[in-house]
Amino acid sequence: MNRDHFLQRIVERREPWEIAVIGGGATGVGIAVDAASRGYRVVLLEQSDFGKGTSSRSTKLVHGGVRYLQQGNISLVMEALKERGLLLQNAPHLVHDLQFIVPSYAWWEAPFYGIGLKVYDLLAGRYGFGPSQVLSREETLARIPTLSQDGLRGGVMYHDGQFDDARLLINLAQTAVEQGAVVLNYARVTELTKDADGYVHGLTFRDEESGASHTLAARCVINATGPFCDAMRRVDDPTAAPMVAPSQGVHLVFPREFLPGDTAIMVPRTRDGRVMFAIPWHGHTLVGTTDTPIADCPLEPTPLAHEIDFILETASDYLAQRPTRADILSVFTGIRPLVKAGEGSNTAALSRDHTIHIAPSGLLTIAGGKWTTYRHMAEDAVDHAIVHAGLEDRPCTTRGLRIHGFQHPPEIPGALAIYGSDAPHIEELIHERPELGKPLHTALPITGAEIVWAVRHEMARTVEDALARRTRALFLHRTAALEMAPGVARLLAEELGRDAEWQRLQLAAFRKTAAHFAPP
Ligand SMILES: Cc1cc2nc3c(=O)[nH]c(=O)nc-3n(C[C@H](O)[C@H](O)[C@H](O)COP(=O)(O)OP(=O)(O)OC[C@H]3O[C@@H](n4cnc5c(N)ncnc54)[C@H](O)[C@@H]3O)c2cc1C
Repeated sequence: MNRDHFLQRIVERREPWEIAVIGGGATGVGIAVDAASRGYRVVLLEQSDFGKGTSSRSTKLVHGGVRYLQQGNISLVMEALKERGLLLQNAPHLVHDLQFIVPSYAWWEAPFYGIGLKVYDLLAGRYGFGPSQVLSREETLARIPTLSQDGLRGGVMYHDGQFDDARLLINLAQTAVEQGAVVLNYARVTELTKDADGYVHGLTFRDEESGASHTLAARCVINATGPFCDAMRRVDDPTAAPMVAPSQGVHLVFPREFLPGDTAIMVPRTRDGRVMFAIPWHGHTLVGTTDTPIADCPLEPTPLAHEIDFILETASDYLAQRPTRADILSVFTGIRPLVKAGEGSNTAALSRDHTIHIAPSGLLTIAGGKWTTYRHMAEDAVDHAIVHAGLEDRPCTTRGLRIHGFQHPPEIPGALAIYGSDAPHIEELIHERPELGKPLHTALPITGAEIVWAVRHEMARTVEDALARRTRALFLHRTAALEMAPGVARLLAEELGRDAEWQRLQLAAFRKTAAHFAPP
């Protein structure tokens, strides 16, 4: 994972790539893994950092989606439950079983959700994580003592998966590279190049670090830019009708004491008919999400005041200690790449299935889906690319492909366990330079060694890459992340050979991004 080396390989290559992927989120990186592991020559370009878009801003659930069961989308639930099982098998260092409780305050809720969740268990079949169970009031409170007790009758416990989205993404990028792909962050695709018949045969991208533009040739170009895919479709055809109805989702992060155990809360129907989760994540409590249709797709979306109020109100219905604005440590916002279905304005009801569209120019766009189904989406996209670009037919191999970092059980437990087989190498760094083993802030267990590791092996280029995605400091505790930033800038400058002015600019840029993680 060396950016300079990858850029040089792209610039020096004379023959066309078989597949060029635009977008370094779950969809694009998944496609790079799939295509490279089938032996195709594949290049991936991301305009910002890997996961800068939606893929670092999810609820962090590897799930079939109880909500989609409510909507009657059985095939999506079954597919997602199977993918959940495959992801646990292939990335056990990152995915783990999490117990959820649907608390019941009305007499009908336990039998109703009890039956629904038994169906969920059945649909998982051999990929099941464990059986659901109806719990008494005492059993429910024993697992979640901070639940509001007023009128509580009991609950239904079920299992789903949890992960760290940005870390899985970086491990997938490493897997793609190990399989032979070339991946480049800070490379924005600005143009599609076409032959005399108007057929896409390559692209131009701008190296966002140097400002230089480069062109490459490819037999198939895949637009995997998620919620941003319509902008790329308009680069191809200015008259292209939008495919995506963007909708943003906000999460609030609170201290752990709001949900001190290992069990999450699932609210299947909020006052406005949505699903809401409160989940333990990296020693904090994550509560969300909203579903607000938006007109544009900014790369750094902004939470809206009414979304914060709605989450606080809903959380107060279920938690004995009502969270307030003052308890919010961080807010993060992501944009769903929901595929349009007619004129309706209720994005919560739009399909989470993915869609593949091939334009008359040959540009292949894949949009929609969810993190959980990224592998299946990638398989589908590459299958289409093979037929469409006339590539040699080779079968998908990702069902059993181990993802970088694969290790079970972890050799190094604790905060580094999430690095899987990379954890001993980070420990080695600490052994060589013990000062790198100290946490960079009293509020978070993140060490300097992780930052150095991220620069050397995970292509972190900026303070934001290190604090938002290689570690999750900005997502967990905004002010702690801001306080860590100068130390992190120094470590990055040392590793990347940058000067004091670069550090100053980095800190200014990070402060600007961090402002979007504060409640309005
Ligand atoms: C609030 C919320 C919660 C969610 N929770 C879950 C969950 O718990 N579980 C689950 O399974 N799914 C969840 N999802 C869905 C899941 O996160 C998304 O489906 C998935 O991350 C989409 O990935 P993507 O790669 O398609 O898009 P993105 O991650 O947005 O990636 C697209 C990338 O394309 C890049 N790009 C754009 N234009 C260009 C260009 N010109 N050149 C180069 N690069 C470009 C962008 O910078 C971006 O990084 C959630 C979504 C939201 C919004």
